[in-house]
Amino acid sequence: MCGIVGYIGHREAYPIILKGLKRLEYRGYDSAGIALYDGKDIKLSKTKGKVVDLEAKLEKEISTDGNLGIGHTRWATHGVPNDVNSHPHYSNSGNLVIIHNGIIENYESLKTELKKRGYTFQSDTDTEVLINLIEDVMKNDGLKLGKAVQIALNQVVGAYAIAVFDKNKPNEIVVAKLGSPLAIGIGGDEFFIASDASPFIEYTKNAIYLEDEEMAIIRRGKDLKIRKIKDDSLVDPYVQELQLNLEQIEKGGFDHFMLKEIYEQPNAIRDTYRGRMLVNEGIIKLAGVEDNMKKFLNADRIIIVACGTSWHAGLVAEYIFEDLARIPVEVEYASEFRYRNPVITEKDIVISISQSGETADTLAAIKLAKSKGAFVFGICNVVGSSIARETNAGAYTHAGPEIGVASTKAFTTQITILTLIALRLARAKGTISSSDYRLHLLELEMIPDKVKKVLESEAHIKSIAEIYKNTRNFLYLGRGYNFPVALEGALKLKEISYIHAEGYPAAEMKHGPIALIDENMPIIVIATKYGHYEKVVSNIQEIRSRKGKIIGVVTQGDVNVKELADHVIEVPETLESLSPLLTTIPLQLLSYHIAVMLGKNVDQPRNLAKSVTVE
Ligand code: GLU
Repeated sequence: MCGIVGYIGHREAYPIILKGLKRLEYRGYDSAGIALYDGKDIKLSKTKGKVVDLEAKLEKEISTDGNLGIGHTRWATHGVPNDVNSHPHYSNSGNLVIIHNGIIENYESLKTELKKRGYTFQSDTDTEVLINLIEDVMKNDGLKLGKAVQIALNQVVGAYAIAVFDKNKPNEIVVAKLGSPLAIGIGGDEFFIASDASPFIEYTKNAIYLEDEEMAIIRRGKDLKIRKIKDDSLVDPYVQELQLNLEQIEKGGFDHFMLKEIYEQPNAIRDTYRGRMLVNEGIIKLAGVEDNMKKFLNADRIIIVACGTSWHAGLVAEYIFEDLARIPVEVEYASEFRYRNPVITEKDIVISISQSGETADTLAAIKLAKSKGAFVFGICNVVGSSIARETNAGAYTHAGPEIGVASTKAFTTQITILTLIALRLARAKGTISSSDYRLHLLELEMIPDKVKKVLESEAHIKSIAEIYKNTRNFLYLGRGYNFPVALEGALKLKEISYIHAEGYPAAEMKHGPIALIDENMPIIVIATKYGHYEKVVSNIQEIRSRKGKIIGVVTQGDVNVKELADHVIEVPETLESLSPLLTTIPLQLLSYHIAVMLGKNVDQPRNLAKSVTVE
C-alpha cells in the first residue's frame, strides 16, 4: 500500500522526505503530501498525482524550511485519489498531523461517534478519523500525544503504520505499527522513519523495525522509547545493521517485484477479506453487493468481462457462482464481447475485472453493457481508476500496488473477492446450507496461512525449474475449478520465460494435445484431492503411457499421483472451490524460476505492459 517517511534531527527535513517518497513510490503513487514544522507552525502541501507533481506544487506553495517533517505517497483504500483525501491529514484543531499506511476497519463507527462530539471531516479517509480520535483522547483526558495515540489505537480495528506530530510539541514524532511496515533509522542525533529503509540508507545503516502492536516516541536528540500498544510495557530496542543496497531494499530484499508480490499473497488475500468477512458472526458484507442485492437476486445471469489473467479469475468465478449460488454465468473476453453485438438485457449483471481498472477493452465492454441497460459491477485494484468510476457499483481488491507485469497477487485477490460475492449471494438465495457456508468462511480464513505453507516449497519448485528450463513446450492440465488455473499457469510461463505453453481441461487432452506428448514434453497436472481426482489420475496414466514428464500439483499426503508422476508439489488440503488460491502459487513460482534461470527480464517482459490501455 502507501509509503510513509519522516525525519527529526538537525538537517533540513524536506529534501530527505522528498527523496524518500520517490524511493517509496513503488508502494503507491496516486497522491502525495508533506507536512513540515518550520519552527513556528505546520506547513502542509499535498496533491493528487505523483511525487514529482507534489514537488512542483509544494515548492510554490510553502517554504521548505524545518528540521521535522512527515511525507506520504498514497495508494488509496478509502476515498478516491484527490487532493483532499491525500495525506498528511490535520486534526480539527490543526495542532496534530498524521500520515498513515493501512486500513482502519472500524472507521465508520468511530466517525459517527466523533461527529456526535462535534468533529467535522474534510476527507473520505479512515485516516482523518484516526487523527481526530487521537485529538479527542488528548483533549478529554488532558494527555500527551504518545499516551493519546496509544489509547486511540486500542480502540482501532485494522492495520496501520502511522507517524504523528503535534505543533505544540515540535521535538517529538510518535509512530506505531500493526500489519503495515515501519522502520526507524537511527543517526547520531537524528531519526528517520519510513515504510522501508530505502529513504535513509545513505544516512545510517542502523535501523529498528517495529514489531506489530508496538509504538515509539521519538524525541529530537534523545533516545527513543518503544512500548507495547496493548499493555504499555517497555520494549528493548533491537538495532539491526542494514546490509542491503538501495535496489534490494525497494524490492523488500527480493530480487524481483514479481517474487515479492508472490510472497505478498498471504497478506493481500487477508487484506481483501478483512472487514468484509466476519467469520464468527457468519457475515459477509460488501457494500456494492448489499446496496444492490435485489438486482443480484433477480438477475437472469451474470456475464463476466475481462482480459488476460483477470479473465482466468472470471473463469474460476464461473465455477463458484454456478456451484454455490446457482446463477448462470458466462465469461467473456472483453475484446470479443464488445465487438460481437452480444445479447444483453436489463436483467443481466455484468461483472468486469481488471487489476489496473484501466484496461481499454474492458472499459469499452462496460460502456456497451451499460448502454443496453445491464447493471455493471467492477472489480479492480486501483482506487479511483476509470473502471471504478464507470461501473454502477463494485469492490476493490486490496492487493496493494502490483508492479511486476506478470500478475500474481491481483489474480488471487480477484478470486477472493469473487468467492465472497458468490458466498454472499448463495446465502441470500438459500442455495448453500448453513454448515457449508460456515465451512467456506472458516476455510477461506485459513487460506493465507496455507499459501504461506505452499511458499515454503520454493526450493523444491526451483529444483524442478532447473530440470525443465530448456524445454521449448509445456502443457498444463486441470479439471473443474483448476482448469482456469492450468490456463493461468501456462500464461505465466509464456509471459515471462517466452516458452510456449498451453493450458487445457485435462479431459480435452485426448482431443488433440495428446499428439504432442513424448518424453520431451513436461506436463503440469493439477490433481488435488477433491473434485475429479480419479479422472485426473486416469489422465496422468495416459500421459505416462506416452512417456510424458509429469509434474503433479497434489494435496498434501497424496499417494496415487506420487507413484505415477516424475515430481509432485504438495499444497495443503482445502475445499475444492478454494483450491485455485493454493494450486496457482507453485505455478507462479515455477514460471518465475524458469524465467530467472533463462536470464529474462521478469518484471518487465518484452512486448508487455502492466496496464493495457489500448485495444
Ligand atoms: N487508508 C488510507 C487511505 O485510503 C491509507 C491508504 C494506504 O495505505 O495507502 O488514505
